[in-house]
Amino acid sequence: MRPIAKGTIPTDDKGNPKTVSNHRSWRKDLIDRIGNYCCYCEMILTDSPQVEHVIAQDINPALALDWYNLLLACGACNRKKDDNPCPPHTHYLPDVHNTYLAFELFFVKNPKQNGEDAAFIKPNTNLTANQIIKANNTIQLCALDEDTTASPTNRVTDLRWRYRFQAFYLAELWRKNWNDWGKTKPKEFIELLMTAAESKGFFSIWFRRFHDVIPVKKALIEGFPGTALNCFDANNDYNPVWRNLPNEI
Ligand SMILES: [Zn+2]
Repeated sequence: MRPIAKGTIPTDDKGNPKTVSNHRSWRKDLIDRIGNYCCYCEMILTDSPQVEHVIAQDINPALALDWYNLLLACGACNRKKDDNPCPPHTHYLPDVHNTYLAFELFFVKNPKQNGEDAAFIKPNTNLTANQIIKANNTIQLCALDEDTTASPTNRVTDLRWRYRFQAFYLAELWRKNWNDWGKTKPKEFIELLMTAAESKGFFSIWFRRFHDVIPVKKALIEGFPGTALNCFDANNDYNPVWRNLPNEI
């Protein structure tokens, strides 16, 4: 999950902080700041990105229009998340923590014999026991491990397992091409790679596959709008570093 920094409240033409009367009115500002990607599952949002309340309106109506309480989400993540609580001391959140470090992919080859491979999200194996609990809370919140591969195919809407696997497969291909020719023409390669990565989404999948290629990591961090720069150490090969709340373990 890509760590995000939205920045301060967008301003109007006069330089004053904007106010809105409907939370959806933040949509364009959110897309400008963090790109049209789901903040939870990371897939690209090609149609009607949903403006999502991190803290649900039912839990805290005072935050219903608050810039700092809004992210973009796909329908599948937003529906699962619904109005369930997700405070940052029990959940990893993309605009609070370095969520890149909290999760990794796992694969199921041809699950339930549907003929397709699938990819899901699990806690990163490096986490402590407490961190695993927290990562699992976020996975459950958005059902990032949801396996709908055996659902009646004419009704299923949650295909995140498929898009995730496609991104993984693409990243594998691009990595092979880096090894074959890209590293001899890094500028041209990276320019092409970014068109693929930006049009597919799934920052974390690309970043992990190129974890040892510093210029690609730099391009991914800079190319996906609103990636939290303080989550990657520019003085140490752009390796990820934790971003915690005060007093958080
Ligand atoms: Zn999503």
